[in-house]
Amino acid sequence: MTAKRQKLIRAVAYYRRSTKKQETSIADQRKAVLKYAEANGYEIVDEFIDDGISGDATEKRFAFLRMREEASSRKFEVVLCWDQDRFGRFDSLEAGHWCYPFRQAGVRIVTVNNGPIDWEDFTGRMMYSMQQEAKHQFLQDLSRNVLRGQIEAAKAGSWIGSPPYAYRIEGESKNKRLIPGDPVHVATVKRIFSEYVEEQRTLTDIARRLTTDGILSSGGSKRWKPSAVRVILANPAYTGLFRSNTYSYSKYHGYRDGQITKGGRRGPNDESDWIVFKDHHPPLVEKRIFNRAQRLLKRNEGRKCRYSRDENPYLLSGLLVCGNCGSLLWGIKNRGQSKVTTPQRYECSKRRREGKNACEGCTVGEQDVLDYLVQFIEENFIPTKDQTRLLSTAKRGKLKQSDLPKGFKKLKRLLVGDRGSASIAKDTHRRLADVEAQIAKAQRNLVLLDANNIPAAEERISQLSKLRDDLKDAAQQTPSENDVNELVSDVLTKLFWLCSLKEDEMRPVLNEIHRITIHTTGRGGGSARRYIFDHGDIEFAGTSGCSPHPEP
Ligand SMILES: [Zn+2]
Repeated sequence: MTAKRQKLIRAVAYYRRSTKKQETSIADQRKAVLKYAEANGYEIVDEFIDDGISGDATEKRFAFLRMREEASSRKFEVVLCWDQDRFGRFDSLEAGHWCYPFRQAGVRIVTVNNGPIDWEDFTGRMMYSMQQEAKHQFLQDLSRNVLRGQIEAAKAGSWIGSPPYAYRIEGESKNKRLIPGDPVHVATVKRIFSEYVEEQRTLTDIARRLTTDGILSSGGSKRWKPSAVRVILANPAYTGLFRSNTYSYSKYHGYRDGQITKGGRRGPNDESDWIVFKDHHPPLVEKRIFNRAQRLLKRNEGRKCRYSRDENPYLLSGLLVCGNCGSLLWGIKNRGQSKVTTPQRYECSKRRREGKNACEGCTVGEQDVLDYLVQFIEENFIPTKDQTRLLSTAKRGKLKQSDLPKGFKKLKRLLVGDRGSASIAKDTHRRLADVEAQIAKAQRNLVLLDANNIPAAEERISQLSKLRDDLKDAAQQTPSENDVNELVSDVLTKLFWLCSLKEDEMRPVLNEIHRITIHTTGRGGGSARRYIFDHGDIEFAGTSGCSPHPEP
């Protein structure tokens, strides 16, 4: 009853109900407002009622308009409402237009639900709720506009997203063209196709060679991964082809049958919806070579061991290293003699790529290396006594530790070093953890990617998952000391064979060798320079090098 002794605040009540049935009725609003006024010291001097009019049709709210006009007459200080929505739903600009006269007259809004409302606070809240409501629509519009922009750009042949490795973008938005970029990268793309198609190297082999040669990958990484090589080999952009809308990623819209349609989904699009331009930009690879690469990729798909060199005409591919500069030796193509079987030769890749000043050079014939290898094995593992017996044991089955203890010990040290089987298991677990972390990271990054890069990223995740499964298998089969001995026997047996094998049968044996550093003596200059093979440093693969799969 203290309120009665105070001076009552002059107020008007405003009631509004839209056409929605579920809203509080005018009668209920009035009941609540009168009760509130009584309890809080307000005297209701007038009532304004808009019934059946929605909150955003303010120009039709005649009672509201009247109330607004009367505000300036200073007959009341407060507008009392059931809640903020009764007063009105405006967007932020409209709110200023409709509310300004009340502010000017010093009239406040008080709601039953929230009490007095600060004008600043009111506008802020109004904007917030409007934004909430508008958000959904806004996102849809945005999605449509982004897609429309992309489709328009694509139809104009403007490149979307980041350029493929070895290209760079020239031109403004909606007219982005691809032109060859860094010459080293351009040469690298050509080299990757040539090594894959002509030299028939594996993805792993190519990745390893690029890493050894210190070429930076597309991500700027020093270490090339087989999947990065694959992404390049599979990208038709290198033939000058422009392709867009091959993949959908929008939640709200898609581009189908020549128009933007509602309803998005993630996934590849029908070929009929692709936007394609042939000869769009300067190609780096001939179509013929690219098509052969696709056939090879398809054939090699799902092939388990990428280390297999079974179909490489260069038997020692990826094994030989230049004794001068440490670069890998590349097979020399026998030009114009494709039908004649000529012995393969290998030369320093650095000298081939960078010219005769880059490295003194190192060229060697395959047969020289093979002869040297056999000699090395004979000297190191085969005792002069009992040779015939041991060879026949080897050919029948397996050479055991007891057959030649010294050679066995020596080979075991070469294969697993001084480490036991436990540390091999530890290696596997470490790599497994590493790969799992990479998968998690790649999945997190997926949402941030540009649409063009999503297929490649998904491809990468699936490859990593395969690797993880293989590593899990390997981790479960942690080699015991017995397993290691078994492996050594196996290799020893193979090495024995090597001494009596024909070239073709040598392939599986050569898989046991990690690397041979070739030392030669060079004579003469220019193109007449000749090399004489001196010796090689042989490194065996060992159990860590022979892990079931190459490093990612
Ligand atoms: Zn060299």
